[in-house]
Amino acid sequence: MEDIAKSGELYERACLCLVGGVNSPVRAWKSVGGTPLFMTCASGAMLRDAEGRTYRDYVGSWGPMILGHANPDVVRAISEAASRSSSFGAPCEAEVELAEIITGRFPSIDRIRFVNSGTEAVMTALRLARGYTGRDRVVKFAGCYHGHSDSMLVSAGSGALTSGIPTSPGITASAASDTIVLPFNSEEAVRRVFEECGESIAAVITEPWPGNMGLVPPMPGFLESLRKLTKDAGALLIFDEVITGFRVPEGGVQNMMNIRPDLTCLGKIIGGGLPVGALGGDARIMDHLAPTGPVYQAGTLAGNPVAMAAGIATLRRLTQTAYQKLDYAASSLGAGLKRAAMSAGIDASVSRLGSALGLFFASRPPTDLASAQSARTDLYPAFFHGMLERGDYFAPSAYEAIFVSLEHTSDVINATIENAAEVFRGIAAQ
Ligand SMILES: *Cc1c(COP(=O)(O)O)cnc(C)c1O
Repeated sequence: MEDIAKSGELYERACLCLVGGVNSPVRAWKSVGGTPLFMTCASGAMLRDAEGRTYRDYVGSWGPMILGHANPDVVRAISEAASRSSSFGAPCEAEVELAEIITGRFPSIDRIRFVNSGTEAVMTALRLARGYTGRDRVVKFAGCYHGHSDSMLVSAGSGALTSGIPTSPGITASAASDTIVLPFNSEEAVRRVFEECGESIAAVITEPWPGNMGLVPPMPGFLESLRKLTKDAGALLIFDEVITGFRVPEGGVQNMMNIRPDLTCLGKIIGGGLPVGALGGDARIMDHLAPTGPVYQAGTLAGNPVAMAAGIATLRRLTQTAYQKLDYAASSLGAGLKRAAMSAGIDASVSRLGSALGLFFASRPPTDLASAQSARTDLYPAFFHGMLERGDYFAPSAYEAIFVSLEHTSDVINATIENAAEVFRGIAAQ
C-alpha cells in the first residue's frame, strides 16, 4: 500500500492531520521549495522514496546513521532487544554497557544520565549547571543549535550584555533574559561578558565545532579561552557534542583537541537511529542530579533497552579502521564537490570534521553566523533540486552539514561528484 502511494498524495494527507505535514520543521522543505519526499525504506547509503526512486543519502537522518541504513548488526541488536520487551521502566544491563563504552572514550565523563533526545540532554545540563553553581545566566553562541528548550531558542541582541530576544513566540522574557548570545569564535566578546558579569554566569555552552550553521571550525585558541575564562569565574563549560560525539576517531572534539569540558551533551550517533540523548561529566557535578542530588530530572523511557542496544551495536562498529574509511570517503567527497564548483566558476569552500562536511558558496569557510549568512545561500535551492533529480539526497537547507556513512563507497561518492559537476555547470549558465 504505502509503497505505491506517491509522496504528493501522502503529503496532502499529512497536512490534514500533522502540523505542516511533518514532525520537524526542516523536513517541510520551506527553504528549498517543493514537496517533501516520503521515504519507505533505506539500506546502506541508499534511501528509497514512495515512488520507488532511490537516492544516495547525505543526510543520514541528520547524523545518527554513520554505519549506513539498516546495518545488519544494528537491526539484529534492535530485534533481539525488542523480543525481550521494548521497555522495563527498571534498570537493565544495556544502560550500563552503553555508559561504559562512552565513559571509556571520554575522559571528561565519569557519570552519565541517558535521556530521549539532544534537546533534553541540553535542557538538563543547563538546569544542572544552574543548580550546581547557584547562578542563572548562560552564554551561548549565535548559530549554534542546542535543541528547542526555551532558554536556547534565543538569538543575538545588540551588544554583549543586551538581554536575549526570543527566536520563537511562547518563550518568556525572563527565560530569554538569562541567555547571553555572543558571536562564535570571538574570544574578546566572551572575555568582556565575564569581566562585566562573570559572577552571575552558570555556564558557557557551545558546539565545539558547530554543525548547525553549516560546519564551522573553531579558531585556534578559542575553545581553550572558553575553558580558561569559565574556570577562572567558577562557571561550567558545556560542550554540546550531539553531532560531533563519535564523529571523529578520538570520540569527540574535546578529545581531538584535548580540552576537558565540565559537562558534555551527546545524542544522534549514540542512539544508532533510535531516540537517545545523554549528558555526562565530572562525578562531583553529575551527582547533583536526582537521586544522589537535589536537581530533578526523570524519564519514563530513558535508558530504553531497545535504544541502548542500537547505540551499543553502532558504537562497537566504530573502530579506528572504520574511522579511516569514513575520513577517506568524506575527504574525497569534499574535494570533489569543491573541484566541481570551482571548475564551473562557482566560489565554494568546504570544511570537514571526520565524516561531516560543510559546503559553502563562498571563497573561504565562515568563522561565525554572520559570515555563514554572507555566503551565496541563494544558490542552494538550485543545487538541492538539481542533485535530487540526479538521485542525490542532500539536506533541504543550506545550513546543514553533509554526512557520509561507512556505506558511502568510492562508487557512490564518485557518482555524486559527477552529478554535482553537471548541476554546478547548470547553475553557472543561468
Ligand atoms: C540535533 C542537535 C540537538 C538536538 O537534538 P534532538 O535529538 O533533535 O533534540 C542538540 N544539539 C546539537 C548540536 C544538535 O545538532
